[in-house]
Amino acid sequence: MLRTLYRLLPRREARQLILLTCWLALAAVLHGVALGLTGATITAFLADTTGILPWLSALLAAVAVFLVVQWIAQMIAFRVGSETARALHVRMGDHLAGLPLGWFTPIRQAKVVDLATTGVPQIMSYPALLLRPTITAVVTPLAAALTIALLDWRYSLALLAATAIGWYTSRFSGRLARTVDARRHAVEVEATSRIMEYATRQPVIRTDQRPDDAGDLSRALDEVAAASRRSAGTVLPGLLLFGFTMNVLFACLAGLGVMWLAQATLTADVLVGVLVVAARLTAVGSTGAELAAGLRLQRATLDRIVEVLDAEPLTTGRPAGRQDPVDCSGITVHDLGFRYDDGALVLDDVSFTLPDRGLTALVGPSGSGKTTVARLLARFWDPTAGRVELAGRDLRSMSAEQLYAQLATVLQDDYLLDTTIGENIRTARPGATAAEVTEAVRAAGLEAMVAALPGGLDYPVGPGGSRLSGGQRQRVCVARALLKRARLTLLDEATSALDPENSRLVLDAARLLAERGMVLVIAHNLETIAGADQILVLERGRLVQRGTHEELKDVPGLYRKLISAGQRF
Ligand code: ADP
Ligand code: MG
Repeated sequence: MLRTLYRLLPRREARQLILLTCWLALAAVLHGVALGLTGATITAFLADTTGILPWLSALLAAVAVFLVVQWIAQMIAFRVGSETARALHVRMGDHLAGLPLGWFTPIRQAKVVDLATTGVPQIMSYPALLLRPTITAVVTPLAAALTIALLDWRYSLALLAATAIGWYTSRFSGRLARTVDARRHAVEVEATSRIMEYATRQPVIRTDQRPDDAGDLSRALDEVAAASRRSAGTVLPGLLLFGFTMNVLFACLAGLGVMWLAQATLTADVLVGVLVVAARLTAVGSTGAELAAGLRLQRATLDRIVEVLDAEPLTTGRPAGRQDPVDCSGITVHDLGFRYDDGALVLDDVSFTLPDRGLTALVGPSGSGKTTVARLLARFWDPTAGRVELAGRDLRSMSAEQLYAQLATVLQDDYLLDTTIGENIRTARPGATAAEVTEAVRAAGLEAMVAALPGGLDYPVGPGGSRLSGGQRQRVCVARALLKRARLTLLDEATSALDPENSRLVLDAARLLAERGMVLVIAHNLETIAGADQILVLERGRLVQRGTHEELKDVPGLYRKLISAGQRF
């Protein structure tokens, strides 16, 4: 745990953690020495009350230094705790900023929110509270055992052996419990997603009367209950085993003493002193073992943080020192292949060019890979095979800023910021004038809607745009993309929720953009497609036809089939 945390933290915080560990170890050593001296003082008292003074002074001095060191260590511990949490937050934030946009699936987003709000603050208590008893449980018995050598070296060795046995026992029971904890966590995550699914699919479940859905949910909840029982069933024997071992070890130490007494190699005063120390050490070890459960939870949280931090960020070539001239050519896609995770190829050997000006329509049946093409052009993911070049440069060699400065998108799962309509639109180009914003609003068919809303452009859209209808959200996204006047504008089904009149408005705006840059539209209405300068036809991840409407409409093939299917397909 300490090693993992050390690896995750920036250098300064990592050094602080090492410093804290040293202070805590020093405090634990002093604690052990004080315990050993307690035994020696008791022995001296029993043997001869006059010889007690040097031992008592040494004991008092050790206790005083121990208290001061302990206090300093605890102060450092609280500070390191909060700095660790802050550093982990920053580290996660920086890492997330470099991940491919496609990484952010709803489940991963929920996990990140959970880690940022509860996971990382939980880790804070590790250096602040848990590290001390953990170190004490190991170091204090060792130091006490060595101090006991002042009384009897054989007992010193016996205590060292007992410490080692105690430590292995606690590791063993901890490992048992960890496997069960991991299983329980997996089952809980599964149950949470079942509950969410059950809640979000209520309309479908109610109209379809599907009893299976409730069955899935109750099965998942049964699993959680079973996993909790299993977990209690494994943790409890672990704790009992540890307690039992401690008692047996204590009995062995006493037994050794009785044997040595009988052999007259040990005196009763030393035995009493040693057993008092051993009894105290049992308590120290047990406190450590009881905290082990908390420690395990933290280790699991840390593992989940590591999982996020281990996600592969997009590599970026060195950002070019100068901005390359981008108006010399458009987009070239070479032999593009793509698969999601380890699934089947959803794009295979796709090559095409978008000239630096003009409207291109990408068509194909549902699931043919159109959205995936748009995502690869926007570098949500890097391609599995082939490459995408903008103005002759591979997207992978551009910094995110360079790419996104030239790109505007309206994608199927776009969302809005929790601010006003006007602010949402202006994010595309913060320097835009009020007239330009008004023009984008008009071109996106938003004018009447904005006029009808209280506050107009200052109307707050709510979290994710929840105070707007689907069609309204889509139009705000379109206005945002239009305002940007980017080199490449991607419109993925950007008019799917619009009525014909507003669809036409958006199409006019897209044509206007196409006079100055590249526009790629994924659409189903014939009007948009027929007016495009170039049409690309996808079928099951392969580009099967390309040309203009005039060239393709009478040729036997997928395109003719699609347009003969109706005005919208
Ligand atoms: P279209 O936009 O043409 O309907 P998509 O590009 O969305 O098609 O999907 C192409 C294929 O990729 C489909 O088989 C779909 O199931 C799969 N797919 C799309 N998105 C994902 C994803 N995030 N993870 C896994 N598979 C996906
Ligand atoms: Mg799609």
